[in-house]
Amino acid sequence: MIAAKAYAAQNPAAPLTPWNFERREVGPHDVQFDILYCGVCHSDLHQVRNDWFPGIFPMVPGHEIVGRVVKVGDHVKKFKVGDLAGTGCLVDSCRTCDNCREGLEQYCSNGYVLTYNSLDKYGDGSPTYGGYSNTIVVKEDFVVHISDKLPLAATAPLLCAGITTYSPLKHWKVGKGHKLAVLGLGGLGHMAVKFGVALGAEVTILSTSPKKEADAKKLGAHHFVLTTDAAQVKKARGSFDFILDTVSAEHDFALYLSLLKTNGTHICVGVPPTPNRIPAFSLIDGRKSLAGSAIGGLPETQEMLDFCAAHNIVSDIELINIKDIQTAFERMEKGDVRYRFVIDMATL
Ligand code: NAP
Ligand code: ZN
Ligand code: ZN
Repeated sequence: MIAAKAYAAQNPAAPLTPWNFERREVGPHDVQFDILYCGVCHSDLHQVRNDWFPGIFPMVPGHEIVGRVVKVGDHVKKFKVGDLAGTGCLVDSCRTCDNCREGLEQYCSNGYVLTYNSLDKYGDGSPTYGGYSNTIVVKEDFVVHISDKLPLAATAPLLCAGITTYSPLKHWKVGKGHKLAVLGLGGLGHMAVKFGVALGAEVTILSTSPKKEADAKKLGAHHFVLTTDAAQVKKARGSFDFILDTVSAEHDFALYLSLLKTNGTHICVGVPPTPNRIPAFSLIDGRKSLAGSAIGGLPETQEMLDFCAAHNIVSDIELINIKDIQTAFERMEKGDVRYRFVIDMATL
């Protein structure tokens, strides 16, 4: 076994504290990489708090992981020692169902294995531990190549915030001639703005935070609507082809659906802990669609990373010491994120 260090939550009420554990030995198809940076996703907070389902504790969060390969198994073909490598939300899936065969491992019919807070059902059944740690062992097929052209720390959030927003924009073919609204300007939201702009859409940020307006232009957005200002919301009614909803807490769907044009589509990627209430009238009026999307499969994750390298797209980050993770969680909860915390793993 490989000795590993991490920050872990021992239970949903406990703060994250240092914890030692073991990773499996590097098998024939495994890549081991030392973690240099790991992004802090709101899903980490949801899972540590048991917001969605009872978690597996101790829990080592983190699924925006980048680092450098230190060991590869005998059958590994894509990676060699010294390569940059990344892993997102998934570390395995059945590989045989229709979705897996199409590269949609995030919709695996037999169940995928999450990077943490999951049981390694296609391996030895033990719990998985995420990226708030110094090293990780992952099957080669679930490791992606990271370009050395981009600043590495700012690349980490692409592994979740990046792919989760890139995938729906590509699926719904959002681009030139479309008016896209990004709802919620946090980790996912700011990546959605960058991708929307790169794909040629006219992008509006819908935010509850007046302080974020100054950043809208810097991020490339064309417009900013403060959703707590009734006059601004009224003016935006019926104006968007798509809303990409990244909000992490309960919010008023009827209000946001009213901002769509006829035939418009509201795409949920945010996962609030409580069920959403959606009045049927808000969909019927204007023949609107309500949709959802989860992260992205492995081929699309590599495609997104290559797209980012070609278009010079990375996340706007605040690099933190792992000791400050609790403060980062608290700030994220208040919407005070500019626009992704990334842990410098050298501080572990
Ligand atoms: P984040 O950085 O905390 O951003 C969420 C943003 O939502 C906040 O910055 C805030 O933006 C807005 N917001 C928060 N509470 C709100 C409220 N009550 N009403 C309206 N807006 C509110 O979080 P994130 O990491 O981007 O993640 C966002 C959500 O996506 C989380 O629920 C996360 O679990 C989920 N997620 C889903 C997937 C997937 O595969 N579908 C993948 C990753 C994450 P403003 O200040 O601009 O209002
Ligand atoms: Zn995430
Ligand atoms: Zn499958």
